[in-house]
Amino acid sequence: MSTQTAIQKVAVIGAGTMGNGIAHVHIQSGVPVILIDLKSDLLEKAKATIAKNMNRQVKKGRLTEEDKEKALSLMTLTTDIEDAKEAQLVIEAAFESLEVKTSIFQKLDKICPPETILASNTSSISITEIAAKTSRPNKVIGMHFMNPVPMMKLVEIIRGLDTDDATYGIVEKLAKGLRKIPVEVNDYPGFVANRILMPMINEAVFALMEGVATKDAIDTVMKLGMAHPMGPLALADLIGLDVCLDIMKVLHQDLGDSKYRPCPLLRKMVAAGHLGRKTGRGFYEY
Ligand code: NAD
Repeated sequence: MSTQTAIQKVAVIGAGTMGNGIAHVHIQSGVPVILIDLKSDLLEKAKATIAKNMNRQVKKGRLTEEDKEKALSLMTLTTDIEDAKEAQLVIEAAFESLEVKTSIFQKLDKICPPETILASNTSSISITEIAAKTSRPNKVIGMHFMNPVPMMKLVEIIRGLDTDDATYGIVEKLAKGLRKIPVEVNDYPGFVANRILMPMINEAVFALMEGVATKDAIDTVMKLGMAHPMGPLALADLIGLDVCLDIMKVLHQDLGDSKYRPCPLLRKMVAAGHLGRKTGRGFYEY
């Protein structure tokens, strides 16, 4: 498979925070996308979000109205995972759960031709473990985009134990074509980004729980003192507190070190359904 022509169409599974961003950057780069989710209202919502985000780019003069329309016409919406068989690359961006991902990858393994590359946007789950559930572990890879996808340059590309060089090369080339900067990472819990970021966010939640400072004070210290563009609590709200908790659980379980225990306040916020921006309330209100 030549890297030149390998990827003519991409299927994205999951049209949530990340899935709509991943679809956005592909169609904007001229790569047709089949966007797949469980319900059509979720798909319509994702399409509206992409259109809204593209309108913002048009206003800033970074995209023409014509290019926006062209990009949007490259996306099809479907609730039928069978449609993924038309793609040469499937990027899964469903819930951060090994069970959910295993079930999706096993379905894709049956549906898609043997040469199709199956990628996961997982934040922390082992690519090797997901790959081992398929009959093509050499064609399974991690493509970890950052949130918000249209703005963030980095894609961590994660090699599972059996990911082959051809697969890595195709995905790396695609990422560069999306004007992203790919960084090669090996498959360990949380990879690089979340191995380092999530314990910091979790510690900020501990500091809040213990009354070390208010949420605004914690975020201000990290913004002004460490030159972070956002404070850790505001960032947790952007990522989704459920996603943060899921990642801490993976780090805790897979690395087996108590320093990764999720903060009880983080668990409590998730239990209450205060998941951050996506529910209108997290550490802050939106
Ligand atoms: P989300 O909850 O916003 O969206 C997940 C979507 O997947 C939902 O729309 C859901 O309906 C859909 N879905 C679930 N099961 C499905 C199935 N079987 N078939 C089709 N669709 C299905 O979650 P998100 O924040 O977009 O995260 C998605 C993935 O990306 C997770 O693995 C997460 O860890 C990872 N990630 C998240 C961020 C972030 O900042 N939120 C950053 C990088 C990576």
